[in-house]
Amino acid sequence: MQKMTSFRPVTLVAGGAGFIGSHLCETLLARGHRVICLDSFVSGRRENVQPFENHPSFTLIEACVTRPVAVPGPLDQVYNLACAASPPQYQADPVHTMRTNVVGCGNLLELARIKGARFVQASTSEVYGDPLAHPQTEDYWGNVNCTGPRACYDEGKRAAETLCFDYRRAGLGDVRVARIFNTYGPQMRADDGRIVSNLICQALQERPMTLYGDGTQTRSFCYVSDLVAGLIALMDLPVAPDGAVNLGNPGEFSILELAGLIREMVPGSAKPVFCPLPQDDPRRRQPDIERARQLLHWQPRVPLRDGLRATIDWFAAHLETPEPVGAARDMRP
Ligand code: UDP
Repeated sequence: MQKMTSFRPVTLVAGGAGFIGSHLCETLLARGHRVICLDSFVSGRRENVQPFENHPSFTLIEACVTRPVAVPGPLDQVYNLACAASPPQYQADPVHTMRTNVVGCGNLLELARIKGARFVQASTSEVYGDPLAHPQTEDYWGNVNCTGPRACYDEGKRAAETLCFDYRRAGLGDVRVARIFNTYGPQMRADDGRIVSNLICQALQERPMTLYGDGTQTRSFCYVSDLVAGLIALMDLPVAPDGAVNLGNPGEFSILELAGLIREMVPGSAKPVFCPLPQDDPRRRQPDIERARQLLHWQPRVPLRDGLRATIDWFAAHLETPEPVGAARDMRP
């Protein structure tokens, strides 16, 4: 049972030092939660939690979810965001990625079961693979190559969803699953190899923008504050929804369009260069967010241009050298 609003929930954020996790920790602290951030620092960064590391309601635990997780005292909520999420990073150690997704989710579900905590699993649009249905509704079962280089993440997240719903069906927990679509904003790693961070860093450093394939593939980009609001709304919903819930911004842009927008916003950006398309790269991706609209009364508010402005300004202040840092290089394995 969730407590009254005056109650200050104790909330574990696994992966809390990562890009989305650190924004979530900050928002939860501002809402009066006592936050336990658990991170292995494989892809999460201490700098992300430094601004609130000394907050009296914040605790940082360095641990990997692939090992059983124990936290002292009561626990009301668990958010599982523990896994590298950019293709170059999750493909760098695919066995660990698979274990993090499946074993890690299992360990956190057990913790939530023991503590009687509500559980939100950060799943992904990658469960739809290279989708044959467009836009993607939660009812679509996906088109994933289970032996390809993305499978450690896609199939890992799919198996984690299975575990979540098995726990629920067995009455072992109050479990909710969010399918998160491409998210961007301040505190992305410059070196994570994703499209928004790569293009912005390349533009700021006046290096050619790397476009994979012909750039006609599409993605839908959600600003991080919108996404965090969606995750919290899902956690706070009094009754868990029957199935997973898409969280993302339905505005669909080709990679060429995104590059054009960033070039327009960063004076002196260099021209794009075209590079080979990574294997199994999804052609199109756009969330259908009707379920989130209805259930959570949630929809994204930040237009792409505004979110990019904030992200560009953040990178401009945080990229230490005008020289190409290894950071935004093409990191495909
Ligand atoms: N991409 C690109 N240039 C880059 C990085 C990515 O053209 O420097 C493409 C990538 O091939 C994909 C899209 O941008 O089609 C989004 O890639 P990202 O790695 O951000 O996330 P994904 O949605 O593929 O997980």
